[in-house]
Amino acid sequence: MKEQIIEMEKYAIDNNVPIIEKKSIAFIMKYIKEKHIKNVLEIGTAIGYSAILMASSDKDTLVTTIERDEVRYMEALKNVKKCGMEKKINVVYQDALELNLSEDLKYDLIFIDAAKGQYTKFFEKYKNFLSEGGTIITDNINFHGYVGKSSSLDKGNLKSLVEKIEGYIDFLKNNTEFDTKFYDIGDGLSVSIRK
Ligand code: SAM
Repeated sequence: MKEQIIEMEKYAIDNNVPIIEKKSIAFIMKYIKEKHIKNVLEIGTAIGYSAILMASSDKDTLVTTIERDEVRYMEALKNVKKCGMEKKINVVYQDALELNLSEDLKYDLIFIDAAKGQYTKFFEKYKNFLSEGGTIITDNINFHGYVGKSSSLDKGNLKSLVEKIEGYIDFLKNNTEFDTKFYDIGDGLSVSIRK
C-alpha cells in the first residue's frame, strides 16, 4: 500500500489536488487508533488519500466519504480498489449539502475537509449523524496562516473565505454542545467532542 500512497501524493501534486498534510493525517490516524473509532464519515474525498489512510488506521475502522467532483470521485474509486479497501471504504458521489443520509446512521468521527466557506453548514447538518460522545475534526483551520488576519486583507474572494473560517472558529468556540480544541498541526485542525 505504501507504493499506492506515494503514487497518490505524486498525482495530487501533478494534478493540483489538495490533500491533507502528512502531520495532520498522522494525528487523525493516531486518534482513530487510540479511541477505537469504528465508523468515520468524511466530507471531501478528493482522490481518496485521507480516506484510505483513515481506514488503514485500525482493522475495524470503516469509512464513508463524500465527493461532489466526478473526476476525483472516479480517481478515488480507482485508488480504493488498488489498495484493496473496497470492503472498508464507501465512496459516495454527491454534494454533501444535498445528500440525504438515512437517519439511523451514526458515526464516531466526522472529518470535515470540503469547501472551506461551508464549514458551519457541514457541521450543523452532520452533527445529527454523530454517535454519543463522537468527534468532529475539521482541517485547514489556519488556512495558510491567513486566519485571524482577515482585516488586513484586500476585499475579494480570499478575504471573504478567511472571514468565513474565522466565523466558523467563533461558532465552535461558542458552541456549548461541543468542547473544541484547536491544534497547530499541518494547516490547523479543530477537534470538537460532543459533551
Ligand atoms: N480529504 C481529502 C484528502 O485529504 O485526501 C482532501 C479533500 S480536498 C481538500 C476537498 C474536496 O472536497 C474536493 O475534492 C472538493 O471537490 C470536495 N468538496 C467540496 N465541497 C463539497 C461538497 N459540498 N460536497 C462534497 N464534496 C465537496
